[in-house]
Amino acid sequence: MRHYTEQEMTAIRQALAEQLAGVTEHIRAGLSESEQHQFTAILGRGAGDSSDEALAISLGDLSAARLDMDFRQWHALKEAEQRLDKPEFGECVDCGAAIPAARLVASPAAQRCIACQTAFEHSHGGQARGSL
Ligand SMILES: [Zn+2]
Repeated sequence: MRHYTEQEMTAIRQALAEQLAGVTEHIRAGLSESEQHQFTAILGRGAGDSSDEALAISLGDLSAARLDMDFRQWHALKEAEQRLDKPEFGECVDCGAAIPAARLVASPAAQRCIACQTAFEHSHGGQARGSL
């Protein structure tokens, strides 16, 4: 059974699309910024230790560390996008209650109601605090 009106679904879809576009843009911006930064460091080192392979490895490490949260957020939003059309979309994964539409507009990737999210963050040492 659907938990939301067409109007609410439209608002959630729109919020999800906007957040997805935002985080995608942020990842792209972060990648080119770190590439520039890394390039500058390697160019300053002089010839000899600036192989393409070394550059690729350091860029990979840098991106992974700096963009980890962005990639996670992007992945969560992509998953939410897939759930949107399923009848169970918006059900709290812990207690099964329908998550209020306003919460999903603010956090389209939310998978728990506020009560369960609070309990979850308590039992997981504040990980992902405040983001969802
Ligand atoms: Zn719940």
